[in-house]
Amino acid sequence: MAGKILVTGGAGYIGSHTTLALLESGYNVIVLDNLCNSSIESLHRIETLCGKTPEFVQGDIRDRIMLDNLFASNHISAVLHFAGLKAVGESVNSPLEYYDNNVTGSITLCQAMARAEVYNLVFSSSATVYGEPTEMPIREDFPTGVPTNPYGRSKLMIEELLQDLAKSESRWSIALLRYFNPVGAHQSGMIGEAPNGHPNNLLPYVSQVAIGGLEQLSVFGANYPTQDGTGIRDYIHVQDLAEGHINALQNIVQRKGVDIWNLGTGTGYSVLEIIRAFEVVSGRKIPYKIVDRRPGDIAECWANPEKAELELNWKAKRGLSEMMSDIWRWQSNNPKGYD
Ligand code: NAD
Ligand code: UDP
Repeated sequence: MAGKILVTGGAGYIGSHTTLALLESGYNVIVLDNLCNSSIESLHRIETLCGKTPEFVQGDIRDRIMLDNLFASNHISAVLHFAGLKAVGESVNSPLEYYDNNVTGSITLCQAMARAEVYNLVFSSSATVYGEPTEMPIREDFPTGVPTNPYGRSKLMIEELLQDLAKSESRWSIALLRYFNPVGAHQSGMIGEAPNGHPNNLLPYVSQVAIGGLEQLSVFGANYPTQDGTGIRDYIHVQDLAEGHINALQNIVQRKGVDIWNLGTGTGYSVLEIIRAFEVVSGRKIPYKIVDRRPGDIAECWANPEKAELELNWKAKRGLSEMMSDIWRWQSNNPKGYD
C-alpha cells in the first residue's frame, strides 16, 4: 500500500500487537494514542522486536485540529481505529465519558478522514453488539441485539453511524470487525495486556491470581445452562486478531461499502475449562470461589468464523494452550505490566 497506515489506539493491547504485525508486513505506521490506558513502552518494545519504529503522535481522536494537521502532513491510505474506552463497569458509572470518547471520537475521526479524502477504515467492534442471540454459533447476518451497557451501546452506535456514512458517500470502504474474547500476548513475552488497576476480564484476573497479585478469582455464576454451569466464550489469541486486521486491510482497499466480519475461533470454553488450562501451563493453582452471576453477562457466546475464512482468507491458528502459555510468559516476565 502506497501511503501510511494510521493506527488509533496503537499503544494499547490489541493496537500494539497489530502495529507490530503491520511493521513486520512492511507497512509504514503512525500510531495516534493519548496514552489514557497504555504506555509508550509498548512501542519501544515493538522496536526491539522488529527493528522498526512506528511514528508516534500523542493526541486525542477528539482533537479536530491535530487530526487535520496529521492528515495534511502525511500520506495516509487507511485507518485502523482501535482508540476508545472499553471497561464495561466503568461505562455504567461514566456514560458521558464513554459516549464522548467512543462515539464523538469516532465521528471526529471520520470527519477528519473525509476532509482529507481518506476513506479506508477498519473499526474495532465487538461481539457484544449481538446482544443475547438465541442460537450459537453467531453469524454476521444475525440481527444486532440490545447491548446491556453504555460501552456496548457505543460500539453499536458507531457501527450504525459507519453504515449510514457509507450509504451517504460511495467512496468509503469500511470493515467492522467483531472481536470475540481477545486474550494472549506476543510469543516473545515482551508485549501483552496491561490493564490499569483492577482487571475486569477473566484472563487478566486469572493471571494476576497466578502470580499472587490477587488472592482468588470470583467465578461469576455456575448455574448457567452450559455443560459445567459456567459461562462459555470464544477466546481468540491477540496475534491471530492482529493478523486478521492485515487481511481486512487488504480486502477493503479492493472494494467499497461496509462489510462485517466476526474474528473468533469458532470454539467456546467455559470459565472452569480456562482455569484448568491456565493451571496446566503455569503449574500454579488458581484459587476460586463461585459467586453470583455478573449482571449483563450471557451464558454463551461463540463465533461462526467462516465468513472471514472465505472472504478474508483468515483463520485463527492458535489454540487454547498457546493462548494460556503466552499470557503466562508475558505475566511472569512483566508482573507489573509496562511499569
Ligand atoms: P486498550 O485500552 O488497551 O487500547 C485502547 C487504546 O486507545 C489505549 O492505548 C488508549 O490509551 C487509547 N485511547 C483511548 N481513548 C483515546 C482517545 N480518545 N484518543 C486517543 N487514544 C485513545 O484496549 P484494547 O483491548 O486494545 O481494545 C482496542 C479496541 O478494541 C477498543 O476499541 C475496544 O473497544 C475494542 N475491543 C476490545 C475487546 C477486548 O476484550 N480487549 C473486545 C472487543 C472490542
Ligand atoms: N468471568 C468470571 N470472573 C471474572 C471475570 C469474568 O467468572 O473475574 C467470566 C464472565 O462471567 C464470562 C467470562 O468469564 O463468562 C468472560 O468474561 P470477560 O469479562 O473476560 O469477557 P466478556 O465475555 O464479558 O466480554
